[in-house]
Amino acid sequence: MTRKIIVLLGLPGSGKGTQGAMLAKEIFIPHISTGDILRKMVNSSSEESSILKFYMEDGRLVPSDLVNKIVRKYILSGDGKQGCILDGYPRNLEQAEYLIENVDDNIVAILFDVADEISMKRIMGRFSCSSCGELYNKFFNNTKLEGVCDSCGSKDLTYRSDDSQITLQKRLDEYKKETLPLVDYYKSRNKLFRVDASGSKDDIKENLLSILKKI
Ligand code: AMP
Repeated sequence: MTRKIIVLLGLPGSGKGTQGAMLAKEIFIPHISTGDILRKMVNSSSEESSILKFYMEDGRLVPSDLVNKIVRKYILSGDGKQGCILDGYPRNLEQAEYLIENVDDNIVAILFDVADEISMKRIMGRFSCSSCGELYNKFFNNTKLEGVCDSCGSKDLTYRSDDSQITLQKRLDEYKKETLPLVDYYKSRNKLFRVDASGSKDDIKENLLSILKKI
């Protein structure tokens, strides 16, 4: 595979984060998640933190000009120059155009195909350990001992503040309105691959690895 930007598309909860991190280790390129970057910025005392918080806690997209600048910096100034996996970006046509015109046009997109109901359960059930970062889901992958992290024993387990039912519905609506058109956008440029993202982590991983061989 030549140096590429791999864009992961899919509903919130379709597994982009988990699989993106796995792929990054497998092919030695960074996994850049705009959601993670923005959450860190909200928790720091950056000048943008209050505006970011306003949009994110409401389940709406942050204005593209802000996200575009951040992503450009991450890709062009770091290891991303050797290619990267973009998770959560682009989220609309404006960002997709920005990426091609201002960063790199060597892009492929992978769509994580999953039904709304599965994505809802994955999101509403997910929580993580604040101490070691281990990820869990109360429906599919709970801790062995209620309220205690299997990995490090911490009881500091947290749900994401934008994972409430109302916010989630808004995020799904935003996805359909803003992000779904990117499927046709990349398809019409022959840059779209699809993966069935309804199965187990291992099944999805296997499908993704076979897609990577074609890229
Ligand atoms: P995620 O973790 O990808 O679900 O992102 C969480 C939240 O961060 C989203 O609901 C948006 O408010 C914001 N966000 C992440 N990526 C973007 C983006 N590319 N454009 C605009 N907002 C974003």
